[in-house]
Amino acid sequence: MKPKIWLSSPHMSGKELPYINQAFESNWVAPLGPNVNGFELDLKTYLEEDRHVAALASGTSALHLSLILLGVGYGDEVICQSKTFSASANPIVYQGATPIFVDSERETWNMCPIQLETAIKDRIARGKKPKAIIAVHLYGMPYKVDEINNVGLKYDIPIIEDSAESLGSEYKGQKCGTFGDLSILSFNGNKIITTSGGGALVTKTKSLKEKAVFLATQARDDAPHYLHSHIGYNYRMSNIIAGIGRGQMTILDSHVSNRRSNHEFYLNSLKDINNIVFLQEPNGHFSNRWLSCILLESMTIREGLRLMLEKENIESRPLWKPMHQQPIFKEAPRYLNGVSDELFERGLCLPSGSNLNDDERDRVLSTIKTYFNA
Ligand SMILES: *Cc1c(COP(=O)(O)O)cnc(C)c1O
Repeated sequence: MKPKIWLSSPHMSGKELPYINQAFESNWVAPLGPNVNGFELDLKTYLEEDRHVAALASGTSALHLSLILLGVGYGDEVICQSKTFSASANPIVYQGATPIFVDSERETWNMCPIQLETAIKDRIARGKKPKAIIAVHLYGMPYKVDEINNVGLKYDIPIIEDSAESLGSEYKGQKCGTFGDLSILSFNGNKIITTSGGGALVTKTKSLKEKAVFLATQARDDAPHYLHSHIGYNYRMSNIIAGIGRGQMTILDSHVSNRRSNHEFYLNSLKDINNIVFLQEPNGHFSNRWLSCILLESMTIREGLRLMLEKENIESRPLWKPMHQQPIFKEAPRYLNGVSDELFERGLCLPSGSNLNDDERDRVLSTIKTYFNA
C-alpha cells in the first residue's frame, strides 16, 4: 500500500515546543497563563483591525458564546448558511433556538444575499425577526461581505462571521475574522493552523471580550467564595495548547502561500481536462485556499473519482452536505435556490495540506489523469 495522502493534516513549524516547555518550566499548566495572553496578542496583531481576541477551547464554543452574547435564547430564530459544517449550526440548537437555513450563490459558494433578504422578510412576515445571521467563508473563500453586511444593517440583525476555515483570507484587503459583529476562528487539527483543538472569539469591544472570558471560565462573580449569577461554561483555552498556537502563528503566512500554490498546481495541471471547474476568486476576494475544490460533471463522476483516489490511498471528500439535507435538521425552515444541492453533488475537495510535497501532488494528479484517460 502506498503511503496515505491526507486531505489536510497538521503542519508544525518546529517553534511550538519551546512555548510548551516554558509553560511546564513555569508551571502554567492551566487554562490561563502567558501563552494564552501571547496567542491572543499574536492573533490581534495579525488581524490588524482594532479587535479583541478571546482564546477558547474550540471554534464551536466560540460560536456558542457568540449566540449567548447576542442574547439568543429559547424559541428564537437564527439564520445560518446551509452549506457549511454542522458546527456552524449546532450551537443554535444548544440555545433552544431554531436554525433557518439559507442557500448559497455561485461566485463564492457562500450565503446568497438575495436569499438572505427573502428569508428575513418571510420570517418577519410570519411574526419573528431573526436574532442573528451566521455567515461562513467556506474553504477559505470570503463570502460577499459588503452585500451580506448591507442586508444585516438594513434589518438591524447582527452578523456572526464563521471564519473557522479562513484565517489568512482577505476581502478588499482586510483580514477575514474582522467582518462580523462577532467573529470566530478554529484551530482544529485540519485547519490552516492548528493547536490540536482550539478556537477564538473576535470582538469589537474590550468589554465583550471580557464578558466572553467570564462566561468561558464558569462565570464566577467577584467574591471570595464561589458566587454565580450567570450560567457558566468551561470554554477557555489551555496554556499548553496556546503554546502550540504561538508557534503556529510564526508560519501562518507560509501555510497560506503553500495552500494557494496547491490550488495553482491543480488548476494549471487539470485545466485541459474538460469539465473540471475551479472556484475563481471574484474581485476583492483573497482566499487562503484552505481546501482546493473541484466541480465534476455529475455525482456519478465525482464518486468514481473519489473511490479511485481512495484505492490509491489518497483522501478526498465531497463538499459539505448542506444542513437542510441533514436528518437532524429536517424540520428546519429553509430558503433554497438549488446551488448548495448542486455543489454537493458535483464537488470534491482534493488533498490540500500546506505540507504536501511534489511527489504527493504528482500522485494525486496522475490518479486524476488516469481516471479521465487524460
Ligand atoms: C471547523 C469548523 C467549525 C468548528 O470549529 P472547531 O474548532 O472544530 O469546534 C465551525 N465552522 C466551520 C465552517 C468549520 O469548518
